[in-house]
Amino acid sequence: QSRSSAASDVYKRQGYQMAATLKHFQRFSSVKTMAIYDTLTGLYNRRYLEERLITETQKAFYGGSPLSLVMVDIDHFKKVNDTFGHTTGDLVLKEIASLLKNSVRKKDTVARYGGEEFILILPEAGLEETTIIAERIRRQIENTPFEMEQTRLNLTVSLGISNFPSHHARSKEDLVKMADQALYDAKRGGRNRVCVFHPAKPASWENGHG
Ligand code: GH3
Ligand code: MG
Ligand code: MG
Repeated sequence: QSRSSAASDVYKRQGYQMAATLKHFQRFSSVKTMAIYDTLTGLYNRRYLEERLITETQKAFYGGSPLSLVMVDIDHFKKVNDTFGHTTGDLVLKEIASLLKNSVRKKDTVARYGGEEFILILPEAGLEETTIIAERIRRQIENTPFEMEQTRLNLTVSLGISNFPSHHARSKEDLVKMADQALYDAKRGGRNRVCVFHPAKPASWENGHG
């Protein structure tokens, strides 16, 4: 064996070893975990949510089982940050996250959708059942004072619901949009409330029949 081919064997072996080490590292470190969890709250992140929505809408649309989404947004959260600071804001987010996590069934998914917005995916949940769950969450947050160093904070959330098949969604985007629209209605209606999606009334209805 020539000297150069012996050297290349050594490099090859080192290469394999490095690949094995990297694989081991990925399996047992947080690299994989980071890809699906939100680091602040420990909930699923947006990326995982999108993937989960694909499988759950497929199950619902093709299998015919109901599926509900609940979009949750903290009311006047900016004021919490402005008044008590960002660190307190972060603590509140964590508390609300764990409250949400504890309010759902095992097969449900709770994810952080954005800053102070969360989405619950409730497979096999009809509209009535979903409304009861959302209302329970709303009431629980309203009645839970958040204990901070100096103060007790009272917070509320607004919630928007969409459901398959009730709302004739044809895609996961439809379902998210409908929940978002319902959330918008809850905000506009005064916050601290649950709204179910309803299709917009035709313009002529608003001008004169309302
Ligand atoms: P609304 O009732 O209409 O929802 O009012 P809001 O103040 O909750 O809504 P707005 O969208 O005006 O403000 C959201 C705030 O959430 C602003 C932003 O600073 C805060 N926020 C977003 N992500 C985080 C975070 O990770 N940590 C903290 N502390 N604050 C965050
Ligand atoms: Mg928001
Ligand atoms: Mg908000």
